[in-house]
Amino acid sequence: MNQPAVRHQVLVDVPLFGAFTYLSHFDVMAGQRVVVPFGKRQLCGVVVTGIPPEGVDESRLKSIIRPLEGLPPLPADFLRLVSFASAYYHYPEGQTLFTALPTALRDPKDIRRVDERLFGLTDAGLAEAPPARSRGRLALWQAMQDGPVSLAAARELYAQAGKWLAEELDAGRVERVEPEPTPLVVGNTPPLTGQQAAALEQLYAAPAGYSAWLLHGVTGSGKTEVYLQWIARLLAAGRQVLVLVPEINLTPQLINRFLLRFPASRIAVQHSNLADGERLRGWVDAWQGRADVVIGTRLSVFTPMPRLGLIVVDEEHDGSFKQQDGLRYHARDLAVWRAREAGVPVLLGSATPSLETMANVEAGRYRRLVLDKRAHGAASLPRVGLIDTRRLRLQDGLSPQVMSALEARLAKREMSLVFINRRGFAPVLACTDCGWTSGCPRCSTRLVLHLRERQLRCHHCGWEETVPPACPECGAPDIKPLGEGTQRLETALAQRFPQARILRIDRDTTQRKQAWDEIYRSVNAGEVDILVGTQMLAKGHDFGNLSLVTVLGADGGLYSADFRAAERLFAQLMQVAGRAGRADAPGEVLVQTQWPDHPLYQALIRHDFDGFARHLLSERRQLGFPPAAYQAMLRADAPALQDASRFLTAVRAAAESLAEGVLVSGPAPALMVRLANRERAQLVLESSSRQALHAFIDQLLPLAEAEARRQSRGLRWSLDVDPQEC
Ligand code: ADP
Ligand code: ZN
Ligand code: ZN
Repeated sequence: MNQPAVRHQVLVDVPLFGAFTYLSHFDVMAGQRVVVPFGKRQLCGVVVTGIPPEGVDESRLKSIIRPLEGLPPLPADFLRLVSFASAYYHYPEGQTLFTALPTALRDPKDIRRVDERLFGLTDAGLAEAPPARSRGRLALWQAMQDGPVSLAAARELYAQAGKWLAEELDAGRVERVEPEPTPLVVGNTPPLTGQQAAALEQLYAAPAGYSAWLLHGVTGSGKTEVYLQWIARLLAAGRQVLVLVPEINLTPQLINRFLLRFPASRIAVQHSNLADGERLRGWVDAWQGRADVVIGTRLSVFTPMPRLGLIVVDEEHDGSFKQQDGLRYHARDLAVWRAREAGVPVLLGSATPSLETMANVEAGRYRRLVLDKRAHGAASLPRVGLIDTRRLRLQDGLSPQVMSALEARLAKREMSLVFINRRGFAPVLACTDCGWTSGCPRCSTRLVLHLRERQLRCHHCGWEETVPPACPECGAPDIKPLGEGTQRLETALAQRFPQARILRIDRDTTQRKQAWDEIYRSVNAGEVDILVGTQMLAKGHDFGNLSLVTVLGADGGLYSADFRAAERLFAQLMQVAGRAGRADAPGEVLVQTQWPDHPLYQALIRHDFDGFARHLLSERRQLGFPPAAYQAMLRADAPALQDASRFLTAVRAAAESLAEGVLVSGPAPALMVRLANRERAQLVLESSSRQALHAFIDQLLPLAEAEARRQSRGLRWSLDVDPQEC
């Protein structure tokens, strides 16, 4: 304790930018967890490198209370990833760091765990005479004559083993010993299909170091098999592999597939529903190089892995990779950054890649590998038919064609799926006669109908107008919101087919933990005739063979206020359509629409993902939307919309002169204005230059902070970089 005090920079979990300067009377290292006083509390802090600001009087600084025991300092590459994420998402560095840490490491508590690090004597150490004074030290020394001991075992023999080993390590008489790697065992591996073999050949031929790949393979084409084979090769070379999967895909089936393929390897699973201790164990195993494979949801992108050799992002288009609160990071994007930093390849897999990724392929930043055939059987792509509902009399939203198709499947005892698209539902007005939709005169997005106020509003720029009494294009009186009339559907189906066993899948029926297991069980047991569900069904579930898929209410995604709606709808329809069809007979997909000529449906009929992606990309370029431009959103919410809007208006005014090369739109109400008794509004910030956008945000945030202090206390605000939802 008599050492002179040294200044250190420490990050703590508080909503303030930057690190805090503390004094330390003992040695600490960057990455070390410590206990620090913060206001009236004691918090866990992490020491980081960084130069303490000058001119602060020592008497005004507080001291680190003590180091936290049980773990080595967090590694430098982990801290670099954190600091990149903090800068990119403009989120306080301390909060970013503590988001990246497992919960068990966030409190100012020592970690009790078996320290499996091994220490052995070097030649110099072996040549030394036995230590004389301490019996414990002698016992440890004797044990080490026989071979390396773990730190935990050393502490059993000699209470101060940690300190002694550190000194001996410095003196070169003791060294860290890597545990003997377990030999790789690879379970049954099917012979590759021609396309899989071709893809792997290209992957293997790539020069060592960073490279980014898109594995674009239709559902069931054997993407996972490609991952497994590449992973086997890396494990054989002694590397670790990180596999990111969407929340809903992290199933026991998937984990089993890895366990069966690599029965001797240590596989750490990471997701937010694990108990704290379990999560910590996997995290530390990965960090200490003991786990060979980490499979997890978005949060696992931060897991430190010293022997990292590959990152796989499965279903890279999936929305769950983007965190929607706190640190609003995108795990796929961080994964690519991390791979580049670590100098390792990253493989993004999807049947329906995001436009961001497609744009990266076009630009030559990612290389694409295509699997366009199913891996087994002669399963062919389903026939897609469009039902033009403009001249039809629908019953509870169902066309006669869909009714009789369902009836025919029931008679043959085959399973059907009725898919209702209601994602991000926000009603847009449309004319059923001429196809007019309510567009914003200022910014080429759709106006959203607010029935209560009889207003049409733009969620992007805030434009408002009253609902027109008739179609402004053709004068027809019959204008109505798109996507109406799907609520009654289930009841209607049950009434129409009383003998059918109908299973509904939506947020409500899948809340419980075992829900999906039960759903799979009854589907596989042949206990279901008609599955009815929302977009949850489109997320990579495998319900075996459906012979019919019918799609209702999809038009809302064609002309939505959310410019990403068409991309999502197309991906969803491709994915659900992929569920139809068996080896012996192709399946059938029927889509009810008022816009059968729309390019989305025309592309769907032809199973033409690339064509429609190109169409969307060129549209985004014309409109200046991502990925052709960069976006961020300043969001605010308050009990009343006007308070959120007032704050945003003030911020916008204060920032007006700074916005060089950045377009600021709004404030506008969010698509879902009311959520949990709060009303939400936003400013959209757009630029064709990522740098310009980020420079602007850097100047904007202090203004927003100052403005927020002047506003009512009920106000909350946040920044979302690369927002996925509007
Ligand atoms: P994806 O990840 O593209 O959906 P999977 O890797 O899960 O595809 O493969 C789909 C199905 O095909 C699985 O049942 C898998 O076991 C099987 N499969 C994949 N590759 C092969 C292969 N080379 N030979 C035989 N079956 C395969
Ligand atoms: Zn009209
Ligand atoms: Zn507008």
